[in-house]
Amino acid sequence: MTTRDLRDRTTDFGAEPDENGLIRCDACPVLCRIKPGRTGACDRYANDNGQLVRCAPVTLSINNTTAGQLAKSATPDPADSRHPDTTETAIATAPSTDDLTPETVFVTGIGSGTTYPDYKPAPFIVSASHHGVDTVTVVTEGIFSYCGARVKIDTDRHLGAECATVFADGQAVGHVTTAEYGSQMLSLGGVHHLTGGSKKEGRVTCETLLALCNREAVDLTIDNGARITVQAGQAPIVNGVPESRMRVGCGSATVGIFAQQWHGLVDEVIVVDDHITGVLSEHQAGKCLNMPEAGVKVAGAKSTPGRYFKVANPGQGWGGTDISEPLSIIRTVDPSKAWAGLRLLMTSTTGEDVAYYVLDEQLQPVEQSVPPELQLTIDRIGENCEPSLATVIFTAGAGGSLRAGVTENPVRLTQAVARGDVTITMGGAPVYVMPGGGITVMADVLAMPLQSFGYVPTPALVAPLEFTLSQSLYLDNGGHRDHIVSVDEVIRQLGPHSRLESWLPSNPWPFDTGVSRGTIRSS
Ligand code: SF4
Repeated sequence: MTTRDLRDRTTDFGAEPDENGLIRCDACPVLCRIKPGRTGACDRYANDNGQLVRCAPVTLSINNTTAGQLAKSATPDPADSRHPDTTETAIATAPSTDDLTPETVFVTGIGSGTTYPDYKPAPFIVSASHHGVDTVTVVTEGIFSYCGARVKIDTDRHLGAECATVFADGQAVGHVTTAEYGSQMLSLGGVHHLTGGSKKEGRVTCETLLALCNREAVDLTIDNGARITVQAGQAPIVNGVPESRMRVGCGSATVGIFAQQWHGLVDEVIVVDDHITGVLSEHQAGKCLNMPEAGVKVAGAKSTPGRYFKVANPGQGWGGTDISEPLSIIRTVDPSKAWAGLRLLMTSTTGEDVAYYVLDEQLQPVEQSVPPELQLTIDRIGENCEPSLATVIFTAGAGGSLRAGVTENPVRLTQAVARGDVTITMGGAPVYVMPGGGITVMADVLAMPLQSFGYVPTPALVAPLEFTLSQSLYLDNGGHRDHIVSVDEVIRQLGPHSRLESWLPSNPWPFDTGVSRGTIRSS
């Protein structure tokens, strides 16, 4: 096998130019005919002097960490605020070809190439030995028509109603889905938007997913809702304002957390929240502290003592409501319970909105400046808020025809994955495999190397995918025996031509994951 042989695997074993020098790329259904010196429609393949080449090299993930040290990574990622560039347990130094050993190299699908039609073996089927187990890693770039992004946006602010359409560049690309605790959620992409609408809708959906998954900022608008800018690992921008704080909890939880700190400093606290507004003296937390009921009644529907739903409408104001004037949610002040001089604190769930009142002789709230000792508790709320971030989770179905590139008997792969006998990674990053039929995976794009994703204009996303299992299991399940190549050979032939990426210490090392879970076993 020559050096050219292995590199040809990224270009589907080579293709010959026709009499005009055009070369046909058959790495996807588009089947571009590429002129000399030009790239195909996806910019991933080019005609280089009559040779079809993959424009990006294969990415090798290098485990060159040193345990037990504390130092800066040589390749910090400034766009990745969730993966700090220091760690107390492991560091990664800038990888070099000196680091290329069978024990430290994991061949990722990034740059490996796509295969079409699907019965062709995956570009790389790499054998290696780990912890005494002979393993095989099937390495490919999958073409995903069934894929999307779950985008988690840490904010209380109302971005749009559930099921409201999300637009990018004027095209529908997804919808608002059920909120999570302290976060609004978008479901973007999916086969419906990629293939079921107009050509432009499919193209824009693909572009939006590609940008998000490659950690770029994307502008979105929500039907009857907000304008937002989201970027994986960065603070979301809502209607032009960057978010900074993720709420400490719902209104009721905030009351529960800070009740003791407020006790003695104030007679009533109302934590305004679009979902569950908390009223301290009525709440169980206040009862446990023997606080007398203050008689300040809020609007909305009472759920349980001191917990109120729907005190206002959803919006961009206090606690994700539409109010900017907190007293607007106070319905009555009960003269049989309230008293002149009663100290009332109103705050949002992040502590960003605060007002302090003292009831006068007519039991009317009169705003005053927040006393310093009370301000400390507000500061504490802010201290307990995590930074607001946008998170992008790539979700895709890998259970289709792509499996034929792994084994001649695809259902055996699905069954092995379901049993936990196969470790799936994307660019070396861990994935969550959804239970049930098929192989539906979810991956945090921040755990993957930069620029892991590509596209084809069918339209569909291209993403790296690696299946690691024991060699015996692979062969028993109809694996492509004749296409197995050793990791030593990959290093020898591809090493100098590869993109070397330090393995992220926050990820489980792909082989350790399988071995420690017992999923890579001898049969
Ligand atoms: S779109 Fe890309 S992968 Fe598909 S045929 Fe054209 S160059 Fe090849």
